[in-house]
Amino acid sequence: MEFEFSDRIKALPLYLFARMEEIIRKKQQNGADIISLGIGDPDLPPPKFILDALREEASNPRNHGYSSSIGEYDFRLAVTEWYKNRFSVDLDPEKEVIALIGSKEGLSNLARAFINEGDRVLVPDPAYPVYANGGAILSGGKPVYVPLIEEKQWLPDLENINPKGAKMLYLNYPNNPTGATATIKELEEFVEFALKNRLILCYDNAYSEITFQDYKAPSILQIDEAKEVAIEMNSCSKTFNMTGDRIAFAVGNKKLVEGLAKVKSQTDSGSPKYVQKVAAKALRTYKGPEPPEYILERNKIYEKRAQLLVSELTSLGLKCKMPKATFYIWAKCGESSMEFVEKMLSVNVAATPGVGFGNHGEGYIRFAVTCKEERIKEACERLKKIL
Ligand code: PLP
Repeated sequence: MEFEFSDRIKALPLYLFARMEEIIRKKQQNGADIISLGIGDPDLPPPKFILDALREEASNPRNHGYSSSIGEYDFRLAVTEWYKNRFSVDLDPEKEVIALIGSKEGLSNLARAFINEGDRVLVPDPAYPVYANGGAILSGGKPVYVPLIEEKQWLPDLENINPKGAKMLYLNYPNNPTGATATIKELEEFVEFALKNRLILCYDNAYSEITFQDYKAPSILQIDEAKEVAIEMNSCSKTFNMTGDRIAFAVGNKKLVEGLAKVKSQTDSGSPKYVQKVAAKALRTYKGPEPPEYILERNKIYEKRAQLLVSELTSLGLKCKMPKATFYIWAKCGESSMEFVEKMLSVNVAATPGVGFGNHGEGYIRFAVTCKEERIKEACERLKKIL
């Protein structure tokens, strides 16, 4: 039987990374030692207290029934406490907080709750591809790309966005893939823009806890009136090295949280209770705005790796800057990013071509410092052969 995909699936763009993944797979099958600086997945383990708590909670038979798709009350309470401690933001755990099976799910389901056929959705370019694809396109909406460029520090040029007919705007700082950050003042401008143009503002703060030196990433909810228009997604994935455990949360505007709850009640039954219990415990290790010691130590590891990579890439002639946050280095290759990455693969080093994040990512490569310093050094040695 020849089944046909829905128009929405057919509208998804070509998956650019497939060709790269195929090359990597074949090389690895033939025994190649590929150094992967491509994937945004922490190589460091979750802290020991999380592993111990997971073992304990998973062995409790009571933790294996269905959870509620909006999340257990105690998890939502822990999120509320975390926002109060970390950002001095007050939330109602009943109406302004919802658990997610990873923020990827929330980012796409939010569009499902609010976007009608043909609605325009403002999506940064370059960006995490889920906003345009899982969010806008799979909800029948139309992504309208907002260019992010180096000259504007990878921030949206709000004065030159045409918001006509747009219903929603995705933004993400600290940013994947560029590593850019936004100040409180810039967040104020985002909220003002959304208010003025009656836009849903979906703020993705997945990297808020991976920061260096004195930099602290703000929450959009620190801005007065943000709750009028905004929902913020955050996640335990990168904060606690728990990407596979699938636990995250969305907070903010009540109607937006309610919309997510409506979609989720028909599509999922929540993260496992034992995962929510452990995530609540992890969030409660924050006692104030300052992250706990184990997070600071982890960030120092990423920072050292990032400094090493930036210095090596710069000496190889690839322009890049040390970011204030995230574990990504965004380097200018000045040519087709796909061809550049294929050249890198010829010496068994993997990274992500910028064009995979949108047309304005062309000419750049995203490196993730998710492997040990020795491997980063070895990768740069290998790159000398092609640069
Ligand atoms: N947002 C951004 C910007 C990301 O880079 C990622 C993952 O790489 C996610 C969201 C999804 O995170 P999760 O679904 O694990 O919470």
